[in-house]
Amino acid sequence: MKPLKELVRPNIWALKPYSSARDEYHGKAAHTFLDANESPYNVPLNRYPDPLQEELKQAIAPLKGVEPPQIFLGNGSDEAIDLVFRVFCVPQRDNVVAIEPTYGMYQVCADINNVEYRKVLLGPNFELEPHRLLEVVNERTKVVFLCSPNNPTGNCLDPDAVETIVRQFQGIVVVDEAYSDFSTKPQFRLRLNEFPNLIVLNTFSKAWASAAIRLGMAFASPDIISLFTKVKYPYNVNALTMQAAADILGRRFEVDRWVKQILQERTALLAAVSELPICQRVFPTDANFFLARIDQAGRVYEHLVSQGIIVRNRSGVTLCNDCLRITVGSHTENNRLLAALRQYRPQS
Ligand SMILES: *Cc1c(COP(=O)(O)O)cnc(C)c1O
Repeated sequence: MKPLKELVRPNIWALKPYSSARDEYHGKAAHTFLDANESPYNVPLNRYPDPLQEELKQAIAPLKGVEPPQIFLGNGSDEAIDLVFRVFCVPQRDNVVAIEPTYGMYQVCADINNVEYRKVLLGPNFELEPHRLLEVVNERTKVVFLCSPNNPTGNCLDPDAVETIVRQFQGIVVVDEAYSDFSTKPQFRLRLNEFPNLIVLNTFSKAWASAAIRLGMAFASPDIISLFTKVKYPYNVNALTMQAAADILGRRFEVDRWVKQILQERTALLAAVSELPICQRVFPTDANFFLARIDQAGRVYEHLVSQGIIVRNRSGVTLCNDCLRITVGSHTENNRLLAALRQYRPQS
């Protein structure tokens, strides 16, 4: 890895962050807080939340096998993705490299930040070809984005291929593991201490069943996390979100059961969909969704909509022609989907 200072935007490296009232007085001993222009009424929502989310990080750290200084919490993983650009990429000068197809937010954030986004096609089975990716990297490439299990393809990237990139690329490698709770494959989050250039993303939006609270996580070296902390909005995670996160962490055994249930449903749904005459292929998945190549995918999509069932039409995405991306739902929801698919009559 290049020295961090060479990878970070010079203005960010030099930035003196905003210092909030909560930053300046940190202790718990005081009883009269007259430092932040808060109201004394409407307790407890009258108070600004902890800008560093220390209690929540303490609770998350052991579950994720990391230390609190290796954790960034944000308004969804999307905040962390945007911060990667704002911390590392000089607009109109630097570039990032990502696999294709993948999660759409990396490109949207690149475009918003006016940073060149270079795509490297996955192989025919959506596999990562590390040497082809490394050929696209140049001296202005600051970040490589990988997603495993990948969205919309569903598969995990080969860990050895990911490791090749993390070792050989001298900049930052983001591995988005939003769906890793559904997979038994090795997770790079647990190897942070081996790779100073690694950033791993997780979220409360998928297996943790809490998309509404908007809470995402980034795991990285304390030096990288400090840069994120310096650039983020001071109170980027609100008190209601932190409370809901603490609640769901306390119900983690229930979350484990939900994940098991979804995986059982996934097995049954995959088998049933692959039996349909209109189904050409279901792709292997390590996530709570799968990609299926379907005859007349666009028409099937519209048929499902007319039945009140919404899947994601990915027909227009590179390598995903005629593909629908289907989330595994409850037993009832999956049965409704199957019934509607069986009812579809191909048109000539
Ligand atoms: C759903 C998803 C996320 C989660 O985003 P949040 O902003 O945390 O809801 C992140 N990465 C990928 C690849 C996803 O599919």
